[in-house]
Amino acid sequence: MADTCVFCRIAAGELPARVVYRDDQAVAFHDLNPQAPVHVLVVPLDHHVDLSTAEPPLLGHLLHLCAALAAELGLEEGHRVVVNTGVDGGQTVGHLHLHLMGGRFMRWPPG
Ligand code: 5GP
Ligand code: ZN
Repeated sequence: MADTCVFCRIAAGELPARVVYRDDQAVAFHDLNPQAPVHVLVVPLDHHVDLSTAEPPLLGHLLHLCAALAAELGLEEGHRVVVNTGVDGGQTVGHLHLHLMGGRFMRWPPG
């Protein structure tokens, strides 16, 4: 765990979050600044800066969780999963996370 990493600290229970799911590999919680009626972050417990260091089984688990949570959170009309990466990707928190968003029509391209 990185002491200064906000998502490590949420994963460790040191910072509050509206947690919707937790297991031995990942935690999911509502985004502080939601961009859609449902906006949940799916976050590995282990610190990975981005997709580049995460192993395929973990990545598969995180994607599978997005699908399961979409069903659980009532996003049957559709949803979007986004992984912002690096400066050009608009990543602001340097701990891998998947945005699961839905509850409204998601325009494309996002800009
Ligand atoms: P990024 O821009 O890195 O892809 O996404 C980071 C996301 O984390 C943003 O949507 C931002 O609102 C959210 N976020 C940043 N800090 C916190 C926090 O302390 N708690 C929660 N729940 N979300 C956060
Ligand atoms: Zn971290």
